[in-house]
Amino acid sequence: MSDCVFCKILAGDIPSHKLYEDEHTYVFLDAFPGTKGHTLIIPKKHYEDLFDIPNDQMTYLVQVSQKVAKALREVLNFDGINFFQNTGTAAGQTVFHIHFHLFPRWSGDNALGGWSATTPDKDYFEGLKKQLIKML
Ligand code: AMP
Ligand code: ZN
Repeated sequence: MSDCVFCKILAGDIPSHKLYEDEHTYVFLDAFPGTKGHTLIIPKKHYEDLFDIPNDQMTYLVQVSQKVAKALREVLNFDGINFFQNTGTAAGQTVFHIHFHLFPRWSGDNALGGWSATTPDKDYFEGLKKQLIKML
């Protein structure tokens, strides 16, 4: 994809701080880290998001991510790590070449916002469950 910043990194047209690569994946430090060691894991082939990527590629990305998370833990000795993927603008996706974030955390860093938990009634759970189970 000619206008994709991560494809440009893969092509060597934009510099990156590469940590690891293999036949299918490329791993590099986020250029604008939210915490120390914030790292991105991408497939070498351009897939837009969670809905676009084939299941086997997704599985492999997760496997590589776990390996990278362990290396980050050895080096950074963090207290925890967020492992996430944003699909869609509403979910915060800004680069439309699927990527996983590894986002190291230290106690009290307040580096990521949380959500406000709600307490829906029984109809919410029963209605939604019925609709979703049919699709699975
Ligand atoms: P998302 O908001 O989930 O799409 O995440 C995109 C991530 O890509 C952000 O954390 C950015 O900081 C990061 N990013 C954008 N451009 C670059 C770049 N050229 N090199 C490395 N990371 C980048
Ligand atoms: Zn791309």
